[in-house]
Amino acid sequence: MAKDYYEILGLKKGASDAEIRAAYKRLAKKYHPDISKEKNAEEKFKEIQEAYSVLSDPQKRQAYDSFGHGFEGFKGFRGFGEGFSDFSGFSSPFDLEDLFDMFTGGGFSDIFSTRFRKRSTPERGSDIRVNLSVSFEEAAFGVEKEIRVKRTIKCPVCSGKGYAGESDVGVCSYCHGSGMVSKTRRTMLGLFQTTTTCPNCHGSGKVIKNPCPKCRGRGLLEEEKKIKVKIPAGINTGNFLRLKGQGNAGEHGGSAGDIYVVVFVEPHEIFKRDNSDVYVEVPISFSEAALGSEIEAPTLYGMAKLKIPAGTQSGTIFRLKGKGIPHLNATGKGDEFVKVIVQTPQKLSKKERELLKQLRNEEAFHKKRKSFFEKFQERLRKKFR
Ligand SMILES: [Zn+2]
Ligand SMILES: [Zn+2]
Repeated sequence: MAKDYYEILGLKKGASDAEIRAAYKRLAKKYHPDISKEKNAEEKFKEIQEAYSVLSDPQKRQAYDSFGHGFEGFKGFRGFGEGFSDFSGFSSPFDLEDLFDMFTGGGFSDIFSTRFRKRSTPERGSDIRVNLSVSFEEAAFGVEKEIRVKRTIKCPVCSGKGYAGESDVGVCSYCHGSGMVSKTRRTMLGLFQTTTTCPNCHGSGKVIKNPCPKCRGRGLLEEEKKIKVKIPAGINTGNFLRLKGQGNAGEHGGSAGDIYVVVFVEPHEIFKRDNSDVYVEVPISFSEAALGSEIEAPTLYGMAKLKIPAGTQSGTIFRLKGKGIPHLNATGKGDEFVKVIVQTPQKLSKKERELLKQLRNEEAFHKKRKSFFEKFQERLRKKFR
């Protein structure tokens, strides 16, 4: 059962926005994993972040108040694709990036102005997550794949400035070019002057008179891009590749985010995988098991010869060294493990039936079972005597 978001922040339902913000600020400071000495600080910090991200957003908060955690569509607010939770080992980069976002450009006190007010200082672009399915063999041997991403890029016409030349920029009429506006308030303690960033020019003191026609002054454009990705041999489900600087462009000249390609390896018809080792089951006949033989077992590298010694039991596992999957980012390969399954024939020819009957009537076979049970009965007798 998920914890109540209000409870996490130590608040009552109906808390004001200011109370929510204050509680968040206090708790985030207390539990920030880099500075906190509390137990489970990281987990707590994540909880606090999640609670705050919902309660600080009027729409999300309303949805949460009405439907609680049970509201299915609610998850979509977090902005992750579906199936996200099915992967293992992916979550850390996103959380780290979140942290990174929060703590860039000024200390902790700056988060609110960084995140919730539009600024004209450089802001790093957001990361993009792409899910990629590869076949069992592609994962084993590596493959080049093409992914498609929708992303924002710097406008190539104005190189992200939003205007062509300096003559297209004028002085902001609201702040007369200072970038700041002052207000004087009368308070109980006397006159109180506050200076804030100019809302018209976001502090730059300038406004664009003639915006770039391509991006309409935004400096950014949307594009759909195909990108070739090299998937290394040995990759497994949940592994991800990071394409640095290929995510969304940053605003106001900030650096671009990254692309995370999260890999999902499709199951194989006959092979199973455990890290770099491959598992396969091979049926053999009763006579092959009893008399011993040389069989062929499928591997990722073709059929391989396998010696079955006389008297092999069903379920025996044989190792084919080095016939597994190449280790990811390392030399060497895993092994293949072949489990032989002794099969009881279901359809018999007349001759086979005759031979098996002869075998059944052979004394030796009966004796073996007899002696097995005799030992067992002997033990029972001793026990209950
Ligand atoms: Zn201004
Ligand atoms: Zn432009």
